[in-house]
Amino acid sequence: MPDLKQIVIVGGGITGLTAAYYLQKRIREEQLPYKVKLVEASERLGGKIKSVKRDGYTFERGPDSFLIRKPSAARLVKEAGLEDDLIKNGTGQSYILVDKKLHKMPSGSYMGIPTQVSPFLFSGVFSVKGKLRAGLDFIKPKGKQAGDQSLGLFFRRRFGDELVENLVEPLLSGIYAGDIDELSLMATFPNFYDLEQEHRSLVKGLRKTVPKKKSNKGKKPSMFYSLKNGLESLVDAVEDKLEPGTVVKGTGVDHIEQKDGHYHMLLSDGTVIQADSVVMATPHFAARRMLSQYEFMDVFKEMPATSVANVALAFDQSAIKKDIDGTGFVVSRNSDYRITACTWTHKKWPQSAPEGKALLRCYVGRPGDEQVVDLSDQEIVDIVLQDLKKIMKITKEPEFAVVSRWKNAMPQYAVGHKDRLNHVRAKMEAELPGLFLAGSSYEGIGIPDCIDQGEAAVDQVLSFLHQ
Ligand code: FAD
Repeated sequence: MPDLKQIVIVGGGITGLTAAYYLQKRIREEQLPYKVKLVEASERLGGKIKSVKRDGYTFERGPDSFLIRKPSAARLVKEAGLEDDLIKNGTGQSYILVDKKLHKMPSGSYMGIPTQVSPFLFSGVFSVKGKLRAGLDFIKPKGKQAGDQSLGLFFRRRFGDELVENLVEPLLSGIYAGDIDELSLMATFPNFYDLEQEHRSLVKGLRKTVPKKKSNKGKKPSMFYSLKNGLESLVDAVEDKLEPGTVVKGTGVDHIEQKDGHYHMLLSDGTVIQADSVVMATPHFAARRMLSQYEFMDVFKEMPATSVANVALAFDQSAIKKDIDGTGFVVSRNSDYRITACTWTHKKWPQSAPEGKALLRCYVGRPGDEQVVDLSDQEIVDIVLQDLKKIMKITKEPEFAVVSRWKNAMPQYAVGHKDRLNHVRAKMEAELPGLFLAGSSYEGIGIPDCIDQGEAAVDQVLSFLHQ
């Protein structure tokens, strides 16, 4: 048998796992002379995907679902043989907490942007002045700034501060856990830039482009998928499909050197492995450490990653006297609360809690309050309960509480992110041929975005090795 070229994937989160799975599939199908190794620093695969099964509950420490409209994740689920386990989120009213009061999320909003006028006119989320300012979107000219700018600047210019701070910011920062006045428009929602260029008014543009939701007996359609046994079941199923001997766990890559046309990778246990091509599927700061001799990687030193924590609280339903009729709420930026969002998990994902039980999952750690993540479990639980009790009547202590800390886990795509990434990629192509970056630090943080990047890395590796 001729010597097989080795492809090494660094990092076994969903990006690295996807790359390993599809690489092996292509190698098998096309009978290619390559082999794959996946090196993961921790003792488990899945990275940020971690599910908990406890006392009849199934819930997530990290991501709880993925968008249905981005097809790559459901495709991977099918590849892994878990199609029958896919579940769609239960829908219902969602709320926004402004000025100590829960307001219904105005219907017809897309990422907080109105697509219908009347629900906004009658909403208590904004003052009359705020509504009038938001209405200027219909007449304001296109922005003059070509290309990147902060999400905050862009939306404030179109709708004014009130709509942005009470509605757009809590929804968007729920996804990126960052400050919208720092986040890049072009790296997060370039479609909004295009809409403004084409239609001038974002409201008019969205009305023309967002498909009308087909309602099923007046019910909102589901937007998310999860898996009935938790998202980690996808990680386990994909891992099971990898060929035996593919995965090395509990050993990280410390350093990568290029020598004699190969990559020499120093592992944390002191061994060195060789690779002909490498997929770097770790967070950006880990990639920089492994390639610290390359000055162009220093841009990742400046790229922040924010920290959040969430708390899953399990109650007997009788303990919650004043419940909301809905699936959860987000908290506006200027409110006096430390929780940033709360999901009624047992309503969004009914299989997550046993009959008669309630499972609430709340986030803390808004920009400027990230130190909350360093408090003890009990302190975080107390903060969350104190906030919840301002909104609802809880008469008993939770049956259990699980705190999950996510330190430096949310990479921030600051203004100029795409240009910096393109620069690094161009340098890599010239100086580190065959080595590719993929994952949540680069081109989208959602699970489907990471899977897309894992799949794209497969094409990049194979076209490099075929040369
Ligand atoms: P990671 O999961 O970070 O995996 C990287 C892996 O690299 C890790 O396993 C790490 O141990 C390993 N590694 C690091 N350094 C080394 C090294 N030197 N050598 C070897 N291995 C190394 N997305 C959604 O779509 N829906 C959601 O609901 C959602 N909610 C989220 C909630 C939270 C709290 C968080 C933190 C994220 C959420 N996301 C959500 C985002 C999504 O979960 C992540 O972007 C995605 O899982 C990242 O996958 P990844 O493989 O790119 O990175």
